[in-house]
Amino acid sequence: MFKELKKQVYLANMEIYKRGLVLYTWGNVSAIDREKQVIAIKPSGVPYEDLKPEYMVLIDIKGNIVEGNYNPSSDTKTHLVLYNKFLSIGAVVHNHSCYSTIFAQARKNIPCLGTTHADQFYGEIPVTDMISDEHIKKDYETETGNLIVRIFLEKKIDPKKMQAVLVASHGPFIWGKNIDGAVKNAVALEEIAKTALFTSALNPNITRIKQTLLDKHYLRKHGRNAYYGQ
Ligand SMILES: [Zn+2]
Repeated sequence: MFKELKKQVYLANMEIYKRGLVLYTWGNVSAIDREKQVIAIKPSGVPYEDLKPEYMVLIDIKGNIVEGNYNPSSDTKTHLVLYNKFLSIGAVVHNHSCYSTIFAQARKNIPCLGTTHADQFYGEIPVTDMISDEHIKKDYETETGNLIVRIFLEKKIDPKKMQAVLVASHGPFIWGKNIDGAVKNAVALEEIAKTALFTSALNPNITRIKQTLLDKHYLRKHGRNAYYGQ
């Protein structure tokens, strides 16, 4: 069942591994078939070298296992909140990639300092509030998802224009309209976190990119009248 979806999710998991975004089993990718309301996600705790497309676990939108011999990723409930609340997204990536995680641990937004960032993300990458003790003890993964949704609502951020977030003291969650977009955003996020950190170190007084330049670069690729590419 859903052989193509499982294959795509397998390939995306391997892609973030090959790109150096994950060590050991510190990451997971999922994708959803919106029409059938079925999600394929990496199994929990299986090393990347041992993964196979058929090991991907199929679940429904409530998290019930539809097919699979393994338990789904321990972060599955966070992915589910994102699919349920951000209806435009088709795939979710979570990892603990080094530079993005540094910002998450420092509980700092990743400021938009240049056009590399502006080409991919419309403004600073937000960081969530700290999760409460109550939520850590009770339904931790769902509440992690709720924290993400809350920061987008509070700051009126559009999850279509900002396809990444940093969970405080944890790491990034990244998404996209489809699986290729989500993987690309995950790779880009790590690169822009790295460049932002070094830029800020080199010039601690640096200010964020001019709004007109941010608008130009983001909107020519992703805006209504986008003209970048063939
Ligand atoms: Zn994690």
